[in-house]
Amino acid sequence: MRVLVVEDDPQLRGQLTGLLQDQGMVVDAAEDGREGFYQATEYPIDLAIIDLGLPVLDGVEVVRGVRARGKRVPILVLTARGRWQDKVAGLEAGADDYLVKPVHPEELLARVRALLRRAGGWSQPRMVCGPISLDPATQQVSLADTPVELTAYEYRVLEYLMLRAGEVVSKAALAEHIYAEEEERDSNVIEVFIRRLRRKLDPDDRLRPIETLRGRGYRLTLDRRPLPADSR
Ligand code: CA
Repeated sequence: MRVLVVEDDPQLRGQLTGLLQDQGMVVDAAEDGREGFYQATEYPIDLAIIDLGLPVLDGVEVVRGVRARGKRVPILVLTARGRWQDKVAGLEAGADDYLVKPVHPEELLARVRALLRRAGGWSQPRMVCGPISLDPATQQVSLADTPVELTAYEYRVLEYLMLRAGEVVSKAALAEHIYAEEEERDSNVIEVFIRRLRRKLDPDDRLRPIETLRGRGYRLTLDRRPLPADSR
């Protein structure tokens, strides 16, 4: 998952960046509204966190501009305490959710996860495709209830494929969503991650969870499964 943080306060920007990176997310950061707007419209991000009080270009204008460009990326806005008008303005401009400062890390992460999974068409917190289950909150993956150990990059690839289960995801798109802008991207490495995921998730080579579409990319073929009503 690739998340953009637009926040002019360097300390908070650093905190949010670290918090999201600790969750295995790739973070792009901008310190003013103009740079934030640029990155939100030009970078392949999965979610944007935008402070409403920004220099150069106001946060509400950034949100409005992103929506005017037809971008459907989930947007979480940050507002100052007691400024209810800001929340309304942010939501009216096209934000999906808001958070009042000071930001509580757990609440921010819960909202980020909720927005990401809703954008992927998932409503329950745990994603289940066939026998594969992935919990973004704990980053635990299991195969038929047996835990599977994945490296950080393997996890990122699987999470992205599961979030878009049934869709074709190109190798380039996968690389863009699991590496930061400044990291060197080698899309051949994606093939290695896919091979290792197949080995770990399908040791008997029977399930075939990840399909390769020559020249187009990969697709998680297993059906999305709703959880039984009594499970959490
Ligand atoms: Ca600010």
